Amino acid sequence: MAHGPMPIALSVAALRAGSALILASPIASTIWARYSALHADPTTAAQSWLSSRRTARAVRLIVIVLWWMAWDLQNADFFASPTQLLLFSLPPILSVGIAQSIAYFTSRRVLRLKWRPSDIVRLTFWSTASPTAALLGAAIGAEAIYRGWWQGSFVLALSGVVAFAGSVRLRSAEGLQFRPLRFGKLHGRAFLLSRKMSVQIEKVYIVPAGKGHLTNAYGLGRGIALTDNYGEFTNKSQLDFVIGHELIHVKQHHGRKRLGIVLALFLLLTLISFNLPPSLWRFRPLVDLLFLLAPSLTSYFVSRRFEYEADRGSVEFTADPAAAIQALANLHRMTDTPIDCGRIVELFQTHPALLHRVSAIASVCRVPSDRVEELLERSR
Ligand SMILES: [Zn+2]
Repeated sequence: MAHGPMPIALSVAALRAGSALILASPIASTIWARYSALHADPTTAAQSWLSSRRTARAVRLIVIVLWWMAWDLQNADFFASPTQLLLFSLPPILSVGIAQSIAYFTSRRVLRLKWRPSDIVRLTFWSTASPTAALLGAAIGAEAIYRGWWQGSFVLALSGVVAFAGSVRLRSAEGLQFRPLRFGKLHGRAFLLSRKMSVQIEKVYIVPAGKGHLTNAYGLGRGIALTDNYGEFTNKSQLDFVIGHELIHVKQHHGRKRLGIVLALFLLLTLISFNLPPSLWRFRPLVDLLFLLAPSLTSYFVSRRFEYEADRGSVEFTADPAAAIQALANLHRMTDTPIDCGRIVELFQTHPALLHRVSAIASVCRVPSDRVEELLERSR
């Protein structure tokens, strides 16, 4: 009885210190990555910086989860007053916002991008809205649902809209514009392949790649898009692989399936939370963890599976694994993306690391490993 309050006071202090550390970590890790990139050898600076950006995605997600868990562990009620609600939502948004603006200024310098300060404001705003603000919204919605307030489901839905709209606006802030093609080599090739693979597409788009860091291809609902610099580094058979990959995304409705899976999972978690028996309330921080991490990690996992599926479908059609491997290696070289990444960091990525994609293609098509090495070496 006599020594009861002391450990509680200590643990509250520890939790407060922990919360402060959680809040500081996006900014601290971004400043550290900036320092490392600016002091790295110029030939590896872009790679080092972009690899730290991958880790930062994971950090941003984990920060929100830990922040919410820390509030629950302190039994702090963010519905107690509007001030409490602000104290819950504002600090992580500010922390991530500051970290993101530092990151965009660093990207501009390291990758030599022509972003104006107003572009950086837009990039920071939308990259903080999605996913950070959306995740905090999901936490608030879930908290309401735990208490049996059905209005929480509206907050959840609104968070979903913010997450989706934010990612679309972020793409356009990054300079991604889709311009429909009416004729030309790429247009002809894409429609020819789509007929051969029996995929229905209505449009082929071209995207200005800027300085090369946007170099990519996209499978959309009823069309595909490629950045305008694709021809510069791919030959005809490599281009066929890239078009084929995007056509498989379209054919298999990968975008829609991924959205459906994530929505279904959120719905399931909402139902579980709504009916959480009071005896399980002390495990609330674990439920929080599940609520935010499970849909995000599932979405990334499904996306990576779809990438493997699109690679496999395309290479089965083109029957040219060497071109496929070189196309992927060239893409990574153009965008300075690291060819490998840690298993944990990969869990938070929409695309598998290059080496994993290449070895999947090699194993489907039985390409010997020394040949794979040779192909990767050639595109360096
Ligand atoms: Zn893909």
